[in-house]
Amino acid sequence: MNIHEFQGKSLLRAYNVDIQEGFVAETPDQAVMVAGQLREKLGSEFFVLKAQIHAGGRGKGGGVKLAKSVEEAGELASKMIGMQLVTPQTGPEGKRVNRVLVAQDVYYKGASDIKEFYISLLLNRNKGRYTLMYSPDGGMSIEEVAEKTPDRIFTEEINPCTGLQQFQCRSIAFNLGLSGVAFKNMQKFLSGIYETFTGCDAQLLEINPVLKTSDDRILAVDCKVVLDDNALFRHPDLAGMRDINEEDPVEVEAGNYNLNFVKLDGNVGCMVNGAGLAMATMDIIKLSGGSPANFLDVGGGASPKTVEAGFRIILKDPAVKAILINIFGGIVRCDRVANGVVEAYKSVGVIKIPVIVRLQGTNAEEAKKIIDDSGLSVYSATSFSEAAEKVKEVLGV
Ligand code: GDP
Ligand code: MN
Repeated sequence: MNIHEFQGKSLLRAYNVDIQEGFVAETPDQAVMVAGQLREKLGSEFFVLKAQIHAGGRGKGGGVKLAKSVEEAGELASKMIGMQLVTPQTGPEGKRVNRVLVAQDVYYKGASDIKEFYISLLLNRNKGRYTLMYSPDGGMSIEEVAEKTPDRIFTEEINPCTGLQQFQCRSIAFNLGLSGVAFKNMQKFLSGIYETFTGCDAQLLEINPVLKTSDDRILAVDCKVVLDDNALFRHPDLAGMRDINEEDPVEVEAGNYNLNFVKLDGNVGCMVNGAGLAMATMDIIKLSGGSPANFLDVGGGASPKTVEAGFRIILKDPAVKAILINIFGGIVRCDRVANGVVEAYKSVGVIKIPVIVRLQGTNAEEAKKIIDDSGLSVYSATSFSEAAEKVKEVLGV
């Protein structure tokens, strides 16, 4: 699960990591209020306004702006809130900005001796380790650094049993070219982000840029966190940070029915029980000349309710020219699934595209009969190859 920058920073703060201070605002008035408070408490003269969307590269798209007064913070907020922000990571349609983070300007004093670094922590499943990746070239896209100057990216493997060691922190601070107070502050910063990362069960924590200020503080200026969905049950407070507005509405709906759904760009919708069978079904669709419009695993049950939800979700995609339902009835009997399909088909209303149903397993024959006798324009198939032939036939390929 992705969370917003302001939420990620609140986690960092809870683990005593120094951050660029700020608060989130939903209206221009709130932005003015926040800027006023930052001026009062921290003596900030300038402020940065940062659009809160689940995408990076906001700086490039106009989603990060400097305000030179409290009033200007309000003016910039009124332009930013409600805008459709396009960045290299959003796609051409962009994302609507509902909130802005109003933060202190930390690039103060026109400082020449500030430095921007890149630091991230990630779960390295291949190695069974955490990897801390860092670069002295922060502030810009790390993909660009990786492509042009890969020698400027360093990694440090962390054994989860022993955690991040002090000698590792020293070596990182050294490689980043730090000394004196900034060196010490970097060590503390690294321990803090490691505690945040493991404490929240994150799978990614990326801070770009990490800033060394002119007075040698080390601050998180940006923050991207991806939490491990499988560990969210241990963190009800973090689960509450989910922002459904940022997610694909169709995938959200599928999730509400416990369906595993991934949108693809083909023309044959598929509804299958079990991830392995779903993969195999996508393969036969390809082999028969079509291409899958989605991956959809309805799970073990395949009840009329889930089948109906599956139909509705698949039919939202105008590119879908046919639907292939492929269910293996093991514990769930095929005749029950067939009744479910018929029931769901009727309650969805008119389905204008051909539906091919392959039911195999317990009571498969009864199931075929139920489908054939239903009077609906549903084709039944018993074997995989028969289903593939039918797909071919209805697509006319
Ligand atoms: P991203 O573009 O979505 O990754 O957003 P960031 O939070 O990384 O901000 C983009 C850029 O804005 C940073 O790389 C900085 O150069 C700049 N920036 C961020 N905070 C400040 C600030 O306090 N003052 C100034 N002058 N620039 C800032
Ligand atoms: Mn950034």
